[in-house]
Amino acid sequence: MALSEFNLIERFFVRDNPQRKDVVLGIGDDCALLNVPEGQSLAVSMDTLVEGVHFLHETAAADVAAKAMAVNLSDLAAMGAEPAWITLSLSIPKIDLGWLQAFSDSLHELLVHYGLQVVGGDTTRGPLSITMQVHGFVPENVALRRSGAEAGDVVCVTGTLGDASLGLQVAEHQLAAHGEYRDSLLDKFYRPQAKVAAGIALRSRATAAIDISDGLVADLGHICKASQVGAVISAEKLPISEAAKKVTNPDRVLECALTGGEDYELCFTIKEDDVSKVRSALETVGVACYEIGRVTGKSDVRVFKDGEQITLTKSGFDHFAAA
Ligand code: ADP
Ligand code: MG
Repeated sequence: MALSEFNLIERFFVRDNPQRKDVVLGIGDDCALLNVPEGQSLAVSMDTLVEGVHFLHETAAADVAAKAMAVNLSDLAAMGAEPAWITLSLSIPKIDLGWLQAFSDSLHELLVHYGLQVVGGDTTRGPLSITMQVHGFVPENVALRRSGAEAGDVVCVTGTLGDASLGLQVAEHQLAAHGEYRDSLLDKFYRPQAKVAAGIALRSRATAAIDISDGLVADLGHICKASQVGAVISAEKLPISEAAKKVTNPDRVLECALTGGEDYELCFTIKEDDVSKVRSALETVGVACYEIGRVTGKSDVRVFKDGEQITLTKSGFDHFAAA
């Protein structure tokens, strides 16, 4: 796509791109030149979304852009990093101007919202796939890692769980939902909101953190593994949305809350003495803090309901196991 690629980049990714002061040189040369502020670590994360694997064929271009941003920003949020720059690799089957316009308009809206600049990328012809890399800053030594949880810490999440998974089931016609409940579940699935401000508010406060992309049990399991601890969760304490309660039975909702992916809420651990401090820090950025369990000395994630341990049929979504 040698000739038209340049025009395409110019038209959809250079124009209107916000300009940051720390970008010495953005799109257009062989590399971008970027300045990392003194005393900060560069936090970098990349995610690929492949049509038919990570998003449904019928997904609107605007939603694809929003999801690519959300999954990337969510990783930065989970580290307590502040996003700054994006690089974007697009593989597209053909030059569909309408699709590209909708994709870049949606992207642009989010760039402006978060104060981000696209500083480079690559464009190729191939099956529809979007690889985005996000770069952000976090002051040295305050990044939230998966590895700091200790027995006795409180396990918290930032929002309701299971909605995105139920939204996917609605989108795939496996679950019936109507009116505002349908809209809100679909919105959670198509337009997840990365908890960027919450991640920053948790700096130096959370002992460990992760974003929930594969399901609570699987992702909390990653914290436990990295921290060499275990956790117990109380099913009764899991935050469940009104919409989730209304569209299906409690068992299905619980299963989605425990194992459904793509909610992009943060799961984090804190010292018991810090609960009220953390709760008000999150409140100032408009994010809730739900206590759902405890870190233990054992090495697995166990779920209790009505005082009894329940066993899970699957613990989240595993790409390779599913193949
Ligand atoms: P090269 O051949 O050196 O890889 P390209 O022609 O692929 O250069 O890209 C030219 C410029 O446009 C580079 O600065 C590159 O980072 C940028 N670029 C290419 N594709 C995209 C894209 N999809 N989004 C943003 N920037 C892009
Ligand atoms: Mg290139």
